[in-house]
Amino acid sequence: KPPIIVRDFAPALGLKPFKLISELMAMGVFASMNQTVEETVAVKVAEKFGFLLEIKHRGDAAAQQAKLAEKAKKKKDPNVDDPKDLVPRPPVVCILGHVDHGKTSLLDAIRKANVVAGEFGGITQHIGAYQVTRGERKITFLDTPGHAAFNKMRERGASVTDIAVLVIAADDGFMPQTDEALQHVQNAKVALIVAINKIDAKGANIDQIKGQMQQRGIASEDWGGETITVPVSAIKGDGIDDLLEMLALQADVLELKANPKAPASGIIIESQIDTGRGPLATVIVQRGTLRIGDAIVCGQHWAKVRAMFDDQGNNVKEAPPSTPVRVIGWSGAPDSGAEFKSSKNAREAENIAEEEEDRLRKLAAAQAAAPKESSIESLF
Ligand code: GDP
Ligand code: MG
Repeated sequence: KPPIIVRDFAPALGLKPFKLISELMAMGVFASMNQTVEETVAVKVAEKFGFLLEIKHRGDAAAQQAKLAEKAKKKKDPNVDDPKDLVPRPPVVCILGHVDHGKTSLLDAIRKANVVAGEFGGITQHIGAYQVTRGERKITFLDTPGHAAFNKMRERGASVTDIAVLVIAADDGFMPQTDEALQHVQNAKVALIVAINKIDAKGANIDQIKGQMQQRGIASEDWGGETITVPVSAIKGDGIDDLLEMLALQADVLELKANPKAPASGIIIESQIDTGRGPLATVIVQRGTLRIGDAIVCGQHWAKVRAMFDDQGNNVKEAPPSTPVRVIGWSGAPDSGAEFKSSKNAREAENIAEEEEDRLRKLAAAQAAAPKESSIESLF
């Protein structure tokens, strides 16, 4: 605390120091020129001479400022998660590989394995993604025509997948699209698991595939490399369980986490317009929890979530991170691969969507005008 000293205090009150000293004396306080006046006393004296003395403590002010800063820091930036809110989330897996190597069959086999494992589901709906349950854990699979969806998302810089399963037919080996897919996976820095499929087929040669993997710098674990490799037969169902096990293990290694308490945001997997139900979009929630009644925006489209369904057609009330759900209530069909975000309410969502529509319209108009200009220019 900075002291209030008679010598400085007196002129501040417009008094000679001796006058202040005698005033103090009258109050029963004895202080000389260089002595300190107590705060309460100082306030009283000041009052007597018609001043309102406000005492601001520098030290306290600094402390208070620090406290405020601390508070502001604690007051969550809505876009940054407090580490203590982060909880494990299921991995999102996509399946890539050359045409006819068994991507679709593998996705079907995994889905079937899940049905056998438990929950009696409804009729399977192809909504672009599904989730399987394995004991306590869940694994989310993208069920969209592999490359197209993956590329689109990559183009947008959005990444929804954590683990890519590269399918290679044991009777065919690496093919152009296998290499292309591998390139994508490596560029996207997504974890890789190789599924050597069709091990039941005539001419299947697992070691040959492993040799090809080694040539490409992705040697299998049992060949001294680091790539988890699982031989499977999508048709017979062999190895499917091992594959799921490896995916769960890989998810552990990746320590995937998300904040389920945040406002929901995520990625559009696919969308369409249904004659009865209007525009539908399958989304994967990446952060937060999506609930019925939430308002979300994606580009020039928005939705007040009217209903949500899983891939079995079951009604879903809330979708935590990594959950794929088909959402009903859209103003239009949002683009696959695009990101959606929560809004405060439907009105705000609509406004944001309209602004975006406006922006896009102007952009399109400007682009339509541009070639004309350049053609005029080219005349000169
Ligand atoms: P995609 O083009 O990668 O989706 O491949 P598909 O799943 O459509 O499979 C292509 C062909 O391979 C189909 O005729 C499947 O029946 C067959 N196939 C898929 N998996 C296996 C398998 O594990 N063993 C055998 N023998 N054939 C398979
Ligand atoms: Mg297919």
